[in-house]
Amino acid sequence: MIQASRIKILKDGPENPEGAYVLYWMGLSQRAVFNPALEYAVDEANDRKLPLVVCYGIAEGFPEVNARHWTFLLQGMAEIGPALAKRGIGFVARREGGPVGTALHYAADAATVVIDRNYLKPIRAFYDDFVARAPCRVVQVEGDVVVPVETASPKHDYAARTLRPKVYRLWEEYLHPLRPRPVHHRATAIKLESTLDLDDVAKTVAGLKCDQGVGPVKRFTGGHAEAERRLKHYLGGPFAHYATIRGKPEAGAASHMSPYLHFGQISPVAMALAVRAARTGDSDDRAAYLEELVVRRELAMNHVYYQPDYATLDAVPEWCRKTLDQHRGDPRPHRYSRKQFEAGETHDRYWNASMQEMRETGYMHNHMRMYWGKKIVQWSASPEEAWDIAIGLNNKYFIDGRDANSFTNVGWLFGLHDRPWGTQPVYGTVRSMGEAGLKKFDADGYVREVARLAAAERD
Ligand SMILES: Cc1cc2nc3c(=O)[nH]c(=O)nc-3n(C[C@H](O)[C@H](O)[C@H](O)COP(=O)(O)OP(=O)(O)OC[C@H]3O[C@@H](n4cnc5c(N)ncnc54)[C@H](O)[C@@H]3O)c2cc1C
Repeated sequence: MIQASRIKILKDGPENPEGAYVLYWMGLSQRAVFNPALEYAVDEANDRKLPLVVCYGIAEGFPEVNARHWTFLLQGMAEIGPALAKRGIGFVARREGGPVGTALHYAADAATVVIDRNYLKPIRAFYDDFVARAPCRVVQVEGDVVVPVETASPKHDYAARTLRPKVYRLWEEYLHPLRPRPVHHRATAIKLESTLDLDDVAKTVAGLKCDQGVGPVKRFTGGHAEAERRLKHYLGGPFAHYATIRGKPEAGAASHMSPYLHFGQISPVAMALAVRAARTGDSDDRAAYLEELVVRRELAMNHVYYQPDYATLDAVPEWCRKTLDQHRGDPRPHRYSRKQFEAGETHDRYWNASMQEMRETGYMHNHMRMYWGKKIVQWSASPEEAWDIAIGLNNKYFIDGRDANSFTNVGWLFGLHDRPWGTQPVYGTVRSMGEAGLKKFDADGYVREVARLAAAERD
């Protein structure tokens, strides 16, 4: 089922009567399964008695995307062509031309075009460029949130507590399975020449213009199949007690699904349905997980959609900037540069371990992300420098970096979506996080676990 509010006509005609196929330009929803834009495009193709072609154009040179990110993304992309071929859908992946150039190239022979949806500004600029130049009708189909952002709320929400009731009111309408449609006209006769080699991802990534210094990790392999495997394993055991132990990084109760969500390799609706149907865990575990997956994640989408300055410190509320400014002269017993942070050379071995986990394995547990980030605020020369360091390292090393969640959660370090707390040096009334935050779990166990994970990367 594809809800009408997921569908937006971005360019209303003309249709190309000579069009040889319907085109789906794949952007964020990088999967052949449970993909509303793909299934909508199948309907469009069947209605016109045409085959369907799916294209993907790599955004080589995209800011901050490095060999780690490309490897994960292309591992997922490599599964898509064969999965679509089984259904008679054509697939082409190109290196030259970039995303918009590729889409325009294939749009020239298309009757109509379908695209998916990303709420981040640079990608929205791609859509605007494409729609302005597309020769035919363009329809956008949202597939990577449960409740489409404007449907959930017409404005920037102040906090999770203001968005939550709106999402709860609507989400039943969106939590439905999506069945694959039969494809009536096969794309076998259409000549499609991929120029992005997906048979040897490592070789392709080695040839890309990007930071090769941040390499792939063994801890995570990209792709829908791996996302499903992980989710199944997770819901079969580690999910039990999520409500009570999700704050303990060493307890193994987190799902590690954020990299797959970030690259659209799994649908959040499919995940939410699987969580509801899970036989492990109880209603508190399900509610706690859906709070993170739906309310918190979609609060981040709300933030980047309605706050144009989301990539800078200007995005946090005025009270936060004011209090941080009033305390910018406070003594800082510890002060580190970006280089020292990045190398994990602080006086705090727990913090250094979190940096090592991020740098060497591409992931960090939510509780440690909070500690990691709050300490950067405390130990940097100024709020502005802290912002640049936190968002810079976040987006460089996390596989799930450069996400709506990245900008919003880094914003949270500076008071976004939060309220004023008691005054503390440096933070002012922005919530601080002290070493007490490490006493709530087995922090030494966490350091040992990071050492084990880092050693496994080097093996
Ligand atoms: C400083 C800081 C930086 C962060 N940077 C990122 C980032 O770059 N990319 C990213 O995806 N998340 C980020 N987060 C949010 C959160 O930490 C991660 O989404 C989560 O740790 C991912 O691990 P998981 O999938 O095992 O989480 P689980 O606990 O298993 O949660 C399931 C899913 O719920 C969502 N979720 C969980 N926690 C949050 C949260 N606090 N806000 C929004 N959604 C949430 C995620 O999609 C996650 O995959 C950051 C948090 C902080 C405090």
